[in-house]
Amino acid sequence: MDSGLYVVATPIGNLGDLSSRAVAVLRGVEIIAAEDTRHSQRLLQHYAIATPVMAYHDHSDQKAVDKIRGCIAGGGSVALVSDAGTPLISDPGYRLVRAVQDAGAAVYPIPGPCAAIAALSASGLATDRFLFEGFLPSRAGARDNRLGELATQPATVIFYEAPHRVLECLRAMAAAFGPDREAVLAREVTKTFETIRRGSLAELAVFVAADSNQQKGEIVLLVAGARDDGREVSPEIAALLRRLAQELPAKTAAAVVADHTGLRKKQLYDLLLAWKDE
Ligand code: SAM
Repeated sequence: MDSGLYVVATPIGNLGDLSSRAVAVLRGVEIIAAEDTRHSQRLLQHYAIATPVMAYHDHSDQKAVDKIRGCIAGGGSVALVSDAGTPLISDPGYRLVRAVQDAGAAVYPIPGPCAAIAALSASGLATDRFLFEGFLPSRAGARDNRLGELATQPATVIFYEAPHRVLECLRAMAAAFGPDREAVLAREVTKTFETIRRGSLAELAVFVAADSNQQKGEIVLLVAGARDDGREVSPEIAALLRRLAQELPAKTAAAVVADHTGLRKKQLYDLLLAWKDE
């Protein structure tokens, strides 16, 4: 095996989702650095992997980083795993990957399950552009501010959410994005009670409120981007666009606003044409 750090994705529920390459790497490295050693043992035992395991998370002391770097500097290799899915995706590893790279050693991805991508792939929402938000702030004020910032951006947004907060979160999203915005609840993906349900934010809130089972387990929420027909451009952006279009050709005004908001130039241009027709 080439010396370096192997960032290994592990199953998000179904143990059969570990790739054969991941198994070979986990068997071949000198050390497996795991977010939670006891949690990872279940997977390792299932695959009869006897490699020594050490704890690593982003708050680990320098000794843990030094031990991993030392192993790699001596020509060895280390695998990084988190409790589930792809390390570094709302999981530890960022500090370690940088430390290993900064020491001049190689970092190899061993790709596999990721709850965000699995949920997106089966969501039925647009996949051409998406934004991974991970966990929203737990305090309502900070959460609502963040949702407000996301309300007009056009890409599908992917959130991780704790089960005890999912209903409150869906209601907050309905308030920020409008109750009709399309969304998907992806729960217990790859597990026995997998649920993937698409509907408006208002419908999903009713669905979750009516069935307490939907407030259990692991959850990804996906929300469609603001529609391309211009109806969801905020009043501030609409005012700016109108003002610029008084001074500039419509295409230039649309391009300037697109540069500053992340909205699509065509969406803004079409909006200007629609206003002209009106
Ligand atoms: N690194 C992981 C990944 O690649 O998806 C994510 C780790 S993050 C700490 C854990 C969150 O991911 C959960 O709270 C949940 O929002 C989401 N998640 C993980 N497994 C899931 C599953 N099987 N179904 C739905 N969501 C899942």
